Amino acid sequence: MELLKKRIEEEGRVVGDEILKVDSFLNHQMDIELFQAMGEAFYERFKTHKITKILTVEASGIGIAAIAALYFKVPVVFAKKTKSRNLDAETYTAEVYSFTKQAYYDIQVSKRYLSEDDHILILDDFLANGKAALGLMAIVEQAGATVEGIGIVIEKGFQEGGKLLRERSVHLESLAIIDGFENGKVIFRK
Ligand code: 5GP
Repeated sequence: MELLKKRIEEEGRVVGDEILKVDSFLNHQMDIELFQAMGEAFYERFKTHKITKILTVEASGIGIAAIAALYFKVPVVFAKKTKSRNLDAETYTAEVYSFTKQAYYDIQVSKRYLSEDDHILILDDFLANGKAALGLMAIVEQAGATVEGIGIVIEKGFQEGGKLLRERSVHLESLAIIDGFENGKVIFRK
């Protein structure tokens, strides 16, 4: 998606060898006009699938999932990262290793909000090693629901997540794929 690539080129900041910060439009401040274009782009790529719910993980997936949901006209469910007294006792749970925080955490979804009748589109902001996406897929599997596809805003193609998910023959669509960083500049996949 050219508009997204342009914003990454103009505003992205490369941290070390593997991290891209896009806080000015995606992960901290959110450019909702850009989100609208991205939501529409996800709809164009997945509109032939029957989607009943969008599933993401808090916090950075929620914004893009909410805007995309306006096009699919379905609810958004987001997996929670912390147990709280508000969360229903009956949950689907998966363990995820956080690439950015370098720690394990559990994600959970109340059993009320996913059922075997659901056809799920998983959306997230970044794909690195695929742990968050695989955790969300495990939750969909526990519910007996179907994963229709996975939509990612920025895939870092030099990490293994894309390969792992494509090996599972899941319909994966990334709006921008990065092959690497060179002297602080982002190299996009052609
Ligand atoms: P994975 O589970 O695929 O290893 O990592 C994906 C998650 O880690 C995303 O939900 C995202 O929040 C975070 N993440 C991974 N790489 C980056 C990155 O380069 N920049 C930012 N801002 N977040 C990242």
